[in-house]
Amino acid sequence: MTTRPVHAVPRVATGPVMLDPGNFTPYYIDGLCGAFHRLGVDIRVISAPPLFEPVDPGGQYQVEHCFFPLLGGRVGGLLRHRTRLRQMVKALGYPSGLWRTWRALRHRPPSVLHVQWALVPLLDGLLARALKARGWRIVHTVHDPLPGPTRPFSSRHHRWFLSCADALIVHTPALAQQVVSAYPDAAGRVKVIPHGGVPQPLPSETDRVRARQRLGLEEGRPVLLLFGMLKPYKGLDDLLAAMPAILSRFPRCLLVVAGEALMSLSPIMELIERLGLRDSVVLRPTFVPQEEVASYFTAADLVVVPYREIAASGVVVAAQGYGRAVVVTRVGGLPEFVEPDSCGLVVPPRDPKALAAAVCRALGDPEELTRMGYRAWTRIAQDHDWMDVARQTRALYDAVKREPGPVSAGRTLMFVGAHPDDESFGPGGTLAKYAADGVRVVYACATRGEAGDVGADGQALGQRRWAELECAAAALGLATVIHLGYRDSGMPGSPDNRHPNALVAAPLDRVARDIVVAIRQVRPQVVITFDPIGGYHHPDHVVVHRATVRAFEQAGLPEHCPDLGTPFRSTKLYYWVPSRTMLRLGVRALRLVGRDPSRAGRNRDVDLASVAAVDFPVHARIRLSGRVVARRQAASTCHRSQLGPTGTTRRAAWILSRYVGGTDLFTLAQPRPRIGLSEVDLFEGVTPVKDVS
Ligand SMILES: [Zn+2]
Repeated sequence: MTTRPVHAVPRVATGPVMLDPGNFTPYYIDGLCGAFHRLGVDIRVISAPPLFEPVDPGGQYQVEHCFFPLLGGRVGGLLRHRTRLRQMVKALGYPSGLWRTWRALRHRPPSVLHVQWALVPLLDGLLARALKARGWRIVHTVHDPLPGPTRPFSSRHHRWFLSCADALIVHTPALAQQVVSAYPDAAGRVKVIPHGGVPQPLPSETDRVRARQRLGLEEGRPVLLLFGMLKPYKGLDDLLAAMPAILSRFPRCLLVVAGEALMSLSPIMELIERLGLRDSVVLRPTFVPQEEVASYFTAADLVVVPYREIAASGVVVAAQGYGRAVVVTRVGGLPEFVEPDSCGLVVPPRDPKALAAAVCRALGDPEELTRMGYRAWTRIAQDHDWMDVARQTRALYDAVKREPGPVSAGRTLMFVGAHPDDESFGPGGTLAKYAADGVRVVYACATRGEAGDVGADGQALGQRRWAELECAAAALGLATVIHLGYRDSGMPGSPDNRHPNALVAAPLDRVARDIVVAIRQVRPQVVITFDPIGGYHHPDHVVVHRATVRAFEQAGLPEHCPDLGTPFRSTKLYYWVPSRTMLRLGVRALRLVGRDPSRAGRNRDVDLASVAAVDFPVHARIRLSGRVVARRQAASTCHRSQLGPTGTTRRAAWILSRYVGGTDLFTLAQPRPRIGLSEVDLFEGVTPVKDVS
């Protein structure tokens, strides 16, 4: 006996989306997305035009400027040095940027939105929640978890934003601890993934000499480098205050400061004058283009990072990629970049004396300085390479996609049907409702609907209808669609009945076995299928009903086909039953337009009159909000091939569903319902279990 594979069709055809609204960390994004590209992950970046030079994605990922497109042109140039004004323009333009992002993503199959920076957490949270309701998962990198008046954790809005993230990334274990102690709800969702770096070819002594020539630095002097945008918290004044002590030991020492100044420089100039450092400091307060970055790090003997506060630092990682030792302050996660591999020295922040001592110690032992640099380079090359970081990030994306959302953690609902469209024309409202509530909703579909149009090429139609199903699944917010591997049998008497792979031709045990596999893989607490007459006597629906009833029992039996996966006992089995009121209205409507209700449907093969005459007990009534009904409508319109001009019945059903279809009805089959049972939630009495697979 061979086991037929269940084809889990990944509906998420598109890759994750990276969000950096302010274009704060273009090189970080470039490193990560470039590595994703090499891993074969298709990634899209939503950002803003660059303030300085653009980073060329080199065709490795797509960038869309949904935010502040205005800043790309001449306006951007004008605003570059007017920080206040630029921030005002950004604040005003932020909502429309989010709106553009929402418009760009809302109709895409759900994937992972990786938020690098949440600039207005209240609005970011709205976007994240709206996307989550459509099946998206949210990952957020907490670049800055430090407490403080302007810091994320002091803000209620930020906590609100964080509460909807499926996973939070931080760069070091200490930062993870900080996040959890400031925001205990994050426990269990925080993941440490290092800040990636690029191991460069290790510069030789000749490279160093050349780099100094290129930068016009005098040869033979020990060079300290402070690199990156100048902001008050970067501690340049602390380093300047340390310089006299350093110069007393190394009189020819030269401090090179390179990076755009985003603060007033006059106090710095004054300090340089006052301390008599004019010949010992080279101040280059302009933006450093990418091709010059290498020269600066290559020219340096020691990189100094005297920050007063920060979480993690791209400058440290960049320096290490060039094999340069660093002196850092004990703030945020910085010590963890240095201490574990002894690739630099750590000093307290705001302590020029300690800083001077550390710099002197490093410069005083050139051999150890080289060794520290080499260990730094090894650290990047071995553990912090972007490829490694991208792999870990991808694994996290996969994990959050598998994991149910925090709202309904551990809850899974599976519908077993026969054709693409059974979900939308059937219990689609209920599926959409639970998906919106955060339940993982899966549709296991037996066939691709190859017989849905008399006389059409079955295979081509099957492909077309499967694409329609994927469209509908996105509209409903389903997590996955599974094909059970059969072929549409058509209505009784049609030649499709006799196709070797036709569902009606398959032994019932085989169909049940395929559903057992699906149940054991998906592990739903609640299973929905057709009623005993398959809704309207469609033979495929009836087969699915019978096979699902059997599989529901068998999936939980340890002795039943242990080779088909770990046994899983679902809690409840429901039959979706079309509303009799609706059916009777439909019968009347057809009679009104002079049609025979016993020969309804596109192919005149649905006996609506006889269906309306059969009743099933109703144990659960699921009320659908207007939003959910609209979603079901949107899903229905995906099934274009089934909504042809002759589809009067379906169009009538469509109109009816719009106005009277606000409740889905279900018969409880398992466990046996007590008399008078009247539920309003299919998960009543179901305890969410943690998926152990
Ligand atoms: Zn069907």
